[in-house]
Amino acid sequence: MTNRTNNDNLIDTCEYTIARVFLCYNQLMIRLLDKKTADKIAAGEVVDRPVSIVKELVENSIDAGSTWITIEIKQGGKSYIRVTDNGLGIAEDDVETAFKRHATSKISDAKDLDSIVSLGFRGEALASICAVSRVELISKQREKRTGRRIVVEGSEILQNNPTGCPDGTTIIVKDLFYNTPARRKFLSSDSAEARRIIDFASRIALSYPDIRFNLINSTKQVFATNGKGDILSNIVNIYGADISKALIPVNMSEDNFTIKGFVSDPGSTLSSRNRQVFCINGRIVSSQIIDKAIDMAYKERLFAGRYPVAFLFIAIPPDKLDVNIHPTKKEIRFDDNTLIEDFVKEGIKQALLSKEAIPNLEISTFKNAKPDQGMQMDVKYAIQEAAFEYNEQSNKVDIKNVLTTLSSETDSFKNVETDQAGIVISAVHPFEFDDLIIIGSVFNTYIAAQDKENFYLIDQHAAHERIFYERLMKQHATGEKALQELMFPMNFKVSAQVSSIEDSWINDVRGIGYDIEFFGNNTYIVRSIPAFMEMQEAEYFLNDLFNQFDDIPDLSNKSILEKIIMRACKAAVKAGDSLDSAEIKALLKQLKDCNNPYSCPHGRPVFIKLSNYEIEKMFKRV
Ligand code: ADP
Ligand code: MG
Repeated sequence: MTNRTNNDNLIDTCEYTIARVFLCYNQLMIRLLDKKTADKIAAGEVVDRPVSIVKELVENSIDAGSTWITIEIKQGGKSYIRVTDNGLGIAEDDVETAFKRHATSKISDAKDLDSIVSLGFRGEALASICAVSRVELISKQREKRTGRRIVVEGSEILQNNPTGCPDGTTIIVKDLFYNTPARRKFLSSDSAEARRIIDFASRIALSYPDIRFNLINSTKQVFATNGKGDILSNIVNIYGADISKALIPVNMSEDNFTIKGFVSDPGSTLSSRNRQVFCINGRIVSSQIIDKAIDMAYKERLFAGRYPVAFLFIAIPPDKLDVNIHPTKKEIRFDDNTLIEDFVKEGIKQALLSKEAIPNLEISTFKNAKPDQGMQMDVKYAIQEAAFEYNEQSNKVDIKNVLTTLSSETDSFKNVETDQAGIVISAVHPFEFDDLIIIGSVFNTYIAAQDKENFYLIDQHAAHERIFYERLMKQHATGEKALQELMFPMNFKVSAQVSSIEDSWINDVRGIGYDIEFFGNNTYIVRSIPAFMEMQEAEYFLNDLFNQFDDIPDLSNKSILEKIIMRACKAAVKAGDSLDSAEIKALLKQLKDCNNPYSCPHGRPVFIKLSNYEIEKMFKRV
């Protein structure tokens, strides 16, 4: 990594801020790009569905230095989209120009393309939008006494009059694709289009915590943020209070890389990546590299097809980003994928090793559970899923009221650049095995323990499975095996198929710590077993391994082998024995040495916790 200091970062931030302020003032002048520049900018279809209009309008509002932005939609944005801001406004003489193709105030020639600090610059959005809808624009610059109202339909300017109006800009887009019915047919249902807009608005509101966003869907307020720069309160305002219960703070810096934000505990996941939001250097992006880093950090902690919630704010030196990628592209590229992947993975892993990452025992919520997919763990998932749904039932708001509040707003101009430093992240408490006080054994299945803040239940079987698995994988990977010789060798009869592919498995089995040899007639003899296994465990494990070899003959693939070993662990480890206190101590000591002590290899939790505070709440003491 380069030797950049915090000072360098500060300087970058300052330069960026100056550039944005400059941009905002520069924006007062709109010019037509010369043909060459215009051609250099690839012309693309800007408008395909309502959400792309909302995106363009909101980005214009952000570029105009607004500190609050209201988005209102009706019928999924098909019949009505309004975006109101308190930004710089558009000069009287420029309101018509703004609707022309390649009309932009943000760049003036091709060389500016290399130093873009605004979200828009192609000068295409308003032109494209007014070609396929009925648009009304009302705008006033701060220092002017009157503003301008202009009505455009299918690119034709119908009205352009002076008007009294508050500072800033309102753009209303009605009847999308009214003149191109064929394209209207490609739109989804109102609610599906609304969902897209709500999702976009949520993400953009999160990435600009200093701007107050207000989203109204069919006269109901979906969410409002407070513009105070606090990420957690934005998450709560946007996604609801329940989501915050499951969140663990992420907070790590290394050289000039920082990652902040929140991820969910492994017990609170969703069936899609819907609630994974990444903001890199102040921009919402998508990135398969970060998707992968998240998956790796949660590896073995989740069931297949479950995805944690992640709100990640990452700052990396701009020279580590691929500069050739188009600035409006959502998918971001890095110079060095592995570097970023490892950094993000590490940041999340650290968070997951904290006390907060241990799933909570939530007694009160269980009564509302709707079991899904028949798995016990999913009881909690179902609750969380419901909790994470957008709160569309929230109180009805009186639009007139909203508008009056908005127009009386007198926020002075403020730099709107995302202030990463303003993100408030609570402290992460490392979990210490040494702080655990063992209380005893419950139902011969769980170990009860406590530390200062929490009461824990530890699933003996899951713990044992985790220990067993990590030891096996370690022996397999390092080849440092400890064997125990058997007094009476064991015989294993395998299928003809398994014995015929002996070459593909025998070295791996030996690597784990079995001294195994062909004995003739599809039979193998085992003289030594891994030192840490009991006889029965060793026998069950190998039997299960052979059964699986039967089904999956391609053992050259290491990750398949890993999965097979993982599954065989389950068969080997027996449950339900009552442990005495010495055995409990030994088990916890072994668990402490594991890389990932909090879940079994299949993703079931090893620990669950109930905080002192939760207990007091249940007894109505607080
Ligand atoms: P671009 O954003 O690529 O410049 P647009 O077609 O989106 O192009 O907008 C054209 C111009 O109209 C912008 O460059 C800007 O000067 C002006 N404009 C659009 N929306 C706003 C707004 N909300 N506040 C101030 N100016 C705006
Ligand atoms: Mg724009």
